[in-house]
Amino acid sequence: MPTKTAQTPIDEICNRLWLAIAERKLRPGARLKEEDLSAVFSVSRARVRQALARLEVSGLVTLMPNRGAVVAEPSIEEARDIFFARRTIEDRLVERVCTNVTPEAMARLRAHLEEERAAHERDDTSAIIQLSGGFHLLIAELAGSRYLGDVLRELISRTSLIIAMYQSRAAPDCGPQEHEEIIRMIEAGDIDGTKRAMAKHLAHIENALDLKHDKPRQSELKDILARDG
Ligand SMILES: [Zn+2]
Repeated sequence: MPTKTAQTPIDEICNRLWLAIAERKLRPGARLKEEDLSAVFSVSRARVRQALARLEVSGLVTLMPNRGAVVAEPSIEEARDIFFARRTIEDRLVERVCTNVTPEAMARLRAHLEEERAAHERDDTSAIIQLSGGFHLLIAELAGSRYLGDVLRELISRTSLIIAMYQSRAAPDCGPQEHEEIIRMIEAGDIDGTKRAMAKHLAHIENALDLKHDKPRQSELKDILARDG
């Protein structure tokens, strides 16, 4: 555990903002005022700006000249590209995991699945969101590819934003049942079966989104109603 500092660390600010977006508490297009964030996190505005800059790099926030920061509003095309990237990367990751299945790896996957089930049982939205993304990151870790793991971490954050924007019902992005199917295939050492199970799982998430129609942008309505912009 890092020692506590007087100011909330940037990692924690970024993580809490990401979670608020994934939990739909902060909607795409919502203004992120520096002074409000500075008060909420008890940090300087300089630190808020650093956190927002980092979130912009990972595609969660858009910084607009003279307007400050807003929660990003990814386009349908970007949403499709992100799922394309996830399919490609995760196909490679499960292949790597299957070629080196150890009892320790299986124990970690099963322990993770139990945590996911427990979070669903107590209906803990924050835990469900973090653990469902965490399952995919655990596979990246077990695959031993630091680089693909880093890329995937960013894609998972962006997936949460896309789900918040394009999925009409408030459902978490993954379910323990499909994760369990993936784990069963890994345990059997079935590379093709694992790839199919992962592809089906990602297609299921993508198909639950309404990517046919652009959503009316929230900020447009605000722009129309707010005369001082
Ligand atoms: Zn999943």
